[in-house]
Amino acid sequence: MNAEIIAVGSELLTPQRLDTNSLFLTDQLNALGVEVVTKYVVGDDRDLLADTVRRAMARSRIVILSGGLGPTEDDVTRDAVALALDRKMVFHSEIADQLEQRFRQAGRKMAEVNRRQAFIIEGAEILPNDRGTAPGQWIDDSDVSIMLLPGPPHELKAMFTRQCLPRLERVVPQQVIRTLVFRVAGMAESDLDQTISPVYKKYNNPVTTILAGEGDIQVHLRARCSNEADAAALLAEVAGPIELLLGDRIYSRNGEPLEAIVGELLQKHHATLSVAESVTGGLLAQRITSVPGSSNYFLGGFITYSRKMKADLLGVSEDILAQHGAISKETAEAMAIGARRRTGSTFALSITGEAGPDPSENVPVGTMFVGLADASGTQVVHRQFFGDRPRIRVFATQMALDLLRKKCGLVGV
Ligand code: AMP
Ligand code: MG
Repeated sequence: MNAEIIAVGSELLTPQRLDTNSLFLTDQLNALGVEVVTKYVVGDDRDLLADTVRRAMARSRIVILSGGLGPTEDDVTRDAVALALDRKMVFHSEIADQLEQRFRQAGRKMAEVNRRQAFIIEGAEILPNDRGTAPGQWIDDSDVSIMLLPGPPHELKAMFTRQCLPRLERVVPQQVIRTLVFRVAGMAESDLDQTISPVYKKYNNPVTTILAGEGDIQVHLRARCSNEADAAALLAEVAGPIELLLGDRIYSRNGEPLEAIVGELLQKHHATLSVAESVTGGLLAQRITSVPGSSNYFLGGFITYSRKMKADLLGVSEDILAQHGAISKETAEAMAIGARRRTGSTFALSITGEAGPDPSENVPVGTMFVGLADASGTQVVHRQFFGDRPRIRVFATQMALDLLRKKCGLVGV
C-alpha cells in the first residue's frame, strides 16, 4: 500500500526551516508496511494545495497533510482539502467551547480568529489534540484515507501515534517491510554499481538503493512481503550473490559505521590503538571515540600539525622530514612508529597529506599517506583523493580505519 505526505507551510520553502514531520511519518508508515511514494512541500496557498491533494489522492491510498491547521489567514489546509474533496465545512460549537475553556483556564481571553479551528470538513472524524489547540481530521473519501495533522512536531507525533495508528491498522493489509544494509569501504560508487547491478536489476522487490559517502557506500535492500519469513527469504536470495561479489569489501551488515566495526575487532583481539594525525587534525580520533566503550581499546592520539611537533612528540627524525618532506611515505611510517612507541599500543595509525585547497610541498591536493604500525612492522598506503577539503579529510580517516579493519580481520593478534 502506498502513501503520500504533504508538508504545508511557506516557512518550509525557506532556507531556514526543514520538513522533519515527514521523516517521522515515513518511519511510522514503513513499520506498518506502507511505502511513501511521494512527498511534497507546499506553501500556504489554498489553490496550489488543493491541486496537490487531488494529485496525491489520484495515486495513493493514504494521504497525510501536516501543518496549516492554526487559526490565522495563512492556515489554509482545512479550506484546501474541503475544496479538493468538494465538501462543505461544518462549524462545531463544542470544539469552539473547548477552545474557549482552554484559554480561560490559562487566564486568557480567546481571540476571535481561534474559532476558525472549530471548522471541520463535512464527514470528517475529529482527532483530538491534547498538546495544542488545532484538532486534526481523518476523512475517508471513496477508497482514500486523508489525515490533517498539526504542524508542531510534538503535537503531530502524539496525534499520529494515539489517533491515526489505531485507525491505520484497520486500513492497512498485513504486510512487512524489511531492510538489509551492507556498508562497503574502499570502492567507488560506479565500480560497486557495475559489480552488483547484474544481481539486483533482476528484482523489483526488494528495492535496491545505493547511498554513497566519502569512501563509504551503503547498499539498502528493502523487501515488501506479506509475512516475516517471505521477507527474510527474499532478502537472502538477493543478498547472497551480492555478498559473494563484494567479499571483504563489505565491512558491516547491520548499518554500523566503520569506526564501530574496527572497535569490535580490536576488542575481540584484546588489542589497543593510538593515532598520529597531521592533516586530519583529530578527525580520526573523533570518529574512533564517537563509539561508546572506545576507552576499552583507544589509548589516545597526537595532533602533530607542524614539523616541530612531529619531531618533538613522535620522534620523527629531522633527516626524514628534510629528505622526504612532511607529506611522504617515510613520514607517515615514522609517525605511526612514534605513536606506537610512545603509547605502547598494539596498533598505531598515522595520517599525513594535503587537503587543499592550495597544493603544498610539491604534492597535489588530495595526496594522502596512511601508516599502520604493529609488532610485525609498518605499512603505508598512498592515495590520491578528489574533492574539497572536508571530503578529502573524511576520505583519509576512512582509508585509515579500513586499513586497520583489514589488518585485524586477517591477523590473529
Ligand atoms: P502550522 O501548524 O503550519 O502553524 O505550523 C506550526 C509550526 O510547526 C511551524 O512554525 C513549524 O515550526 C512547525 N512545522 C510545521 N510543519 C512542519 C514540518 N513539516 N516539519 C517540522 N516542523 C514543522
Ligand atoms: Mg503554517
